[in-house]
Amino acid sequence: MADESQQTQVNSSNDEENKRYCWVCYASDDDDETAPWVKPCKCRGTTKWVHQSCLQRWVDEKQKGNSTVKVNCPQCGVEYFIAFPNMGQLMLFLDRVDAFIYKVCPFVAAGVVVGSIYWTAVTYGAITVMQVVGYQEGMALMEQADPLVLLVGLPTIPIFLILGKMVRWEDKVLGLIRASVQRLPFLKYLLPAFRYEEPAGVSTTAVISDPVNATRVLCGALSLPTLATIVGRLFFPSAHDNLTRTLLGGASFLVVKGLFKVYYKQQQHVMQSRRKIIDYPQDPSTSQVPTASTPQAPPPTPQELPITPSLLTAPPSSSHESEQQFLQQQ
Ligand SMILES: [Zn+2]
Ligand SMILES: [Zn+2]
Repeated sequence: MADESQQTQVNSSNDEENKRYCWVCYASDDDDETAPWVKPCKCRGTTKWVHQSCLQRWVDEKQKGNSTVKVNCPQCGVEYFIAFPNMGQLMLFLDRVDAFIYKVCPFVAAGVVVGSIYWTAVTYGAITVMQVVGYQEGMALMEQADPLVLLVGLPTIPIFLILGKMVRWEDKVLGLIRASVQRLPFLKYLLPAFRYEEPAGVSTTAVISDPVNATRVLCGALSLPTLATIVGRLFFPSAHDNLTRTLLGGASFLVVKGLFKVYYKQQQHVMQSRRKIIDYPQDPSTSQVPTASTPQAPPPTPQELPITPSLLTAPPSSSHESEQQFLQQQ
């Protein structure tokens, strides 16, 4: 190593070709005779040599403050070997402790989060049991039960509620009703919301996306036992125990809410299939854009178009008419 650098120095003094150039700052031996050099990789030729200080700046820039990041030569890809001075046993120990804490902390934090969620789920399950079967009965039930069964069983209550909430049975019912209305037309007289023809030629992309919303599913699922209890107390006061009353309340709540949802989705579908994009309002005589101050009433926005039963039962407007208008404007 020492021989080689001496050799190079000898060569560089003799031969202009072998002069060392730093690939970072482009300076040569002549520019700074004292700066230490290093050849840290397999590179040959103009990128063989680099100033120690220049390469340190380059490494700093790549590591961005994290001294464990590995840095490679941008030319030949060899990883730079960075040697640290021996700072003694205490420093070695502190370094290891630091690395250990760095690795362990994410797991501890994740454990705390999971533990909190678990105990929240246990608490929620216990409250739900007391809510559904009654406070006294619920307490007695949980005191008699095996603690292990409680620790496993109670947290599954919110999980099953959430999973149940994610079953979109309303969509299935909607599809079923649509299919039966097509096969059995007399059903239209029972279900006015389905009394409309799919307009031909209108975009079939009129599908309303209804993504699963996490917070909505969570709130809906976790409020179900409370709502079931309230509905049960209001409408089934004569039920002979709390459990039956709450189950009846919950079932009727779900059915009524589901039917409203089916109706709402169907009407949304009708609205979407019957929408129209309106001409831009323009006065032909002045050809000025009407401002808010002009007395001319603005055209109704699509939301303001009335969706009346007559509109729903009306035959679909011919698409040729709008096509002709479109061609005339061209
Ligand atoms: Zn340099
Ligand atoms: Zn290299």
